[in-house]
Amino acid sequence: MTTNTKTVTIINHFICGVETSGQGQDTKPVYNPATGEITAELRLANAADLEATVAAAKTAANTWGDTSLAKRTAVLFKFRELVAAHVDDLAELITAEHGKVLLDAKGEIARGLDVIEFACGIPELLKGDYSDQVSTGIDVFSFREPLGVVAGITPFNFPVMVPLWMAPMAIATGNAFILKPSHRVPSAAMLLAKLWKQAGLPDGVFQVLHGDREVVSGLLTHPDVDGISFVGSTPVAKHIAEVAAKHGKRVQALGGAKNHAIVMPDADLDHAADHLAAAAFGSAGQRCMAISVAVAVGDAADLLVKKVEQRAVAIKVGNGTEPGADMGPVISPESREFICKTVAAAEAAGAAMIVDGRNVIVPGHEEGFWVGPTVIDHVNTEMSAYTEEIFGPVLAVVRVKDLDAGIALINANPYGNGTAIFTSSGADARKFQRSVDVGMIGINVPLPVPVAYHSFGGWKASLFGDKHIYGPEGVSFFTRGKVVTSRWPEPANASGASYNFPSN
Ligand code: NAD
Repeated sequence: MTTNTKTVTIINHFICGVETSGQGQDTKPVYNPATGEITAELRLANAADLEATVAAAKTAANTWGDTSLAKRTAVLFKFRELVAAHVDDLAELITAEHGKVLLDAKGEIARGLDVIEFACGIPELLKGDYSDQVSTGIDVFSFREPLGVVAGITPFNFPVMVPLWMAPMAIATGNAFILKPSHRVPSAAMLLAKLWKQAGLPDGVFQVLHGDREVVSGLLTHPDVDGISFVGSTPVAKHIAEVAAKHGKRVQALGGAKNHAIVMPDADLDHAADHLAAAAFGSAGQRCMAISVAVAVGDAADLLVKKVEQRAVAIKVGNGTEPGADMGPVISPESREFICKTVAAAEAAGAAMIVDGRNVIVPGHEEGFWVGPTVIDHVNTEMSAYTEEIFGPVLAVVRVKDLDAGIALINANPYGNGTAIFTSSGADARKFQRSVDVGMIGINVPLPVPVAYHSFGGWKASLFGDKHIYGPEGVSFFTRGKVVTSRWPEPANASGASYNFPSN
């Protein structure tokens, strides 16, 4: 008889400054998608854990919101240094649970660092307005205060970047932040919690609570949670926005995407093909800003498809820890199955398979969740490969006759996260940027993720709520305004009561 002596790693919560198992008894397996192995068991919070976390956050928010800007900023600067010093550790955790290649993991951390750096400027960002002598002896000033307790619910595809889109902004503005990471990629969040603590952040200001929809539901309805920042798929985003709003909470809920890139006949087609391949297959297509539809205009199509094909077949698929690997696995067997099913449906409906990644296996990692780069030409808007967010390494090519038809296609699509145009015509680029109903636009740039001092947000089914995330709109989202009208009467000028509406 053989005894399995392999110990399973348990991933705990981080509540009130301490790593803790909590009281919930349920767990969920965490996988390494490159090997298909279970690498850990994740604890799932129960209602008592949720109560304890929210209570700790509420207490912490009172003190932290009252802490001077100088002290808050000092913590942010220290946190920035610690994250920068732990890039390798964070990247290893990301790759082990998400599967993306290490360099790509480091790239997402770099984008997270950008947001921390922006948040380090919070004293400048929170400067209010002052109007002197608006009426005789009266001044008016406005400033912003934290919401209190806010929660972030994040997706699997950016285990560090998306929590860092939220937490530094929420914390810099004086809130206590509860992170509910994706159950698929929980470990990086735990390291972030330890780094916040090491940076001197008081206990309870940043906490991590793992769980499934019950925990999310508890956060959405808890009377002591004041705001919800969500990033994930569109159906869940819509649900989150509706429930949170119904319970009187401020909410921003970023959803899914179907990002189109128009390629004009006058574009540099090598440049366009390089960037299309990178934007479609980087991170195995599991980016909310991935390009999943190439809109080939007129004569551009045949040559463009050839050039993208050349790049797609040269991509090395492998374990993200292997030097030289360009693309890792997808997140789960269910994801692989959905991708392959959608590609098969397009093929059956008459689309042309240019590169077929459905049967890719990485030697030595036969149990991994692999799908290779896939390019499908002659896709039409009826096919599920067009209508569904595939969220895998699949580029669908739709052919149109001119720019107007390309713009109409984009605007008829329910999503509006990102889009791009490849062209050498300034006039066409300008027409495009002014005509598309999309929040983030690239001109000869395929992944137009805004830098941290501009905000990130899509339109239509890609965002529910008014405010975009991070940047100036992030400051606004995590705070609410106060306006003070003030008079300090000099005793000699006391004028007695007036019963008319003041007229200066
Ligand atoms: P998801 O919607 O399945 O999960 C996101 C989060 O919501 C997770 O923490 C999950 O535990 C929780 N959740 C899932 N189902 C829930 C339910 N029914 N009730 C309450 N909570 C629930 O998304 P995912 O698969 O982890 O991530 C991929 C999706 O996220 C894609 O659609 C992608 O486009 C989107 N995304 C969007 C952006 C953006 O900026 N717009 C960024 C990254 C990812």
